[in-house]
Amino acid sequence: MTQTKSKLVFWGVRGSTPTTDRDSWRYGGNTPCLEVTTPDHTRFILDCGTGLRMLGNQLRIVNNRWGEGQSEAGIDAHVLVTHYHWDHIQGIPFFQPFFEAQNRFHFYSFQSKYLGRNSLRQVLEAQLASPYFPVDVSNMRSSRSFREVSGGDKWKVDNTEITTAWLNHPQDCLAYRLDMPSGSIVYATDTEPGAPERDHDLRELAHGADVLIYDAQYSPEQLASSRKGWGHSSWLEGVKIARESKVRNLVLFHHDPDSTGRTIDGFLSAARQEFPATWAAMEGMSMTLSERGVGVTLPKSRLGQRRRLRFAATVKGETDDGRAFEENATVRDLSLQGAYLCLSSRPRLQSELSVNIDAGDHERSSLLSLRATVVHCETGREQAQNGVGVVFIEDAEPEMPRD
Ligand SMILES: [Zn+2]
Ligand SMILES: [Zn+2]
Repeated sequence: MTQTKSKLVFWGVRGSTPTTDRDSWRYGGNTPCLEVTTPDHTRFILDCGTGLRMLGNQLRIVNNRWGEGQSEAGIDAHVLVTHYHWDHIQGIPFFQPFFEAQNRFHFYSFQSKYLGRNSLRQVLEAQLASPYFPVDVSNMRSSRSFREVSGGDKWKVDNTEITTAWLNHPQDCLAYRLDMPSGSIVYATDTEPGAPERDHDLRELAHGADVLIYDAQYSPEQLASSRKGWGHSSWLEGVKIARESKVRNLVLFHHDPDSTGRTIDGFLSAARQEFPATWAAMEGMSMTLSERGVGVTLPKSRLGQRRRLRFAATVKGETDDGRAFEENATVRDLSLQGAYLCLSSRPRLQSELSVNIDAGDHERSSLLSLRATVVHCETGREQAQNGVGVVFIEDAEPEMPRD
């Protein structure tokens, strides 16, 4: 059977600096790193933020399993770097496959006017120089090649055509477009609207893309005032570009380290009012591109102990096609993080539900009111029922009792 799907995985979605705050866990705290696998198994890595470490661990597991008994087995990947700000390169020293001789990497980035020739190679070596890192670059045993590219370039890797455009960002930044037989992805992060030529070039690059991943670090209000000139953008700009360029799916990306899960929920629901096919990038989220369109899967997040039960609940939310619903449902399991519900409506991934569980017994009723976000939806075992996984979401102003 011929493989006609490509897969995009988000390993890091946070901008500027990694975060571990309690309020940032739902979307994730690692800095930018994406992986794209094409139908012909070519692998691309977009940016080398701290998400790269997790990708490295995963690739080693897959490669070891796959390569058993094959001495030639190794990881081969094309690494496209947008620019040299820390959040896009700081995963490099922690990517284990770079240190293994059987692996091959092909790097692409631009010549920085501050660094001159071989900019990316210099950046990579400087990160491992003393006294910044305990081992030097001679320990990086993988084979590495470097290619300098510039805005407006176009080249081919196997069956994928890559096109670039300059973005409006301090010390410059490149956007990349990948055209594969299964669909097209545009990665345009770290950019601020307002430079007419670059705004135009980005719209051209994004034209008709299946997926546009776009910098939505700030709110439109911040972008117009306190964060003007910082080199980033908002969901509102993303929506404008997506509409004007006839993009099929918009992904809000490069979340601010100070944005809580609730802040990002707010950006997403505002964007969906204007452009329904919007998603908020989440660590571990994947998108599958094929002739059937784009499918989205969110990471497994309810890893805590689950209690099987059968509570009645009333659930309010929004369906896949944007209609409001309210229905009586059954809660099938419950953990501290979330629940599994049986619903006849099919709620939309990443949309908010209000779940009112009747946790009383036959003598008195006791209502538990929770807000949740949809992380999973499958056709259930029972007819006309959907199995829906939800994660409970934090209150806007968490007031935790002190220990
Ligand atoms: Zn950045
Ligand atoms: Zn930057």
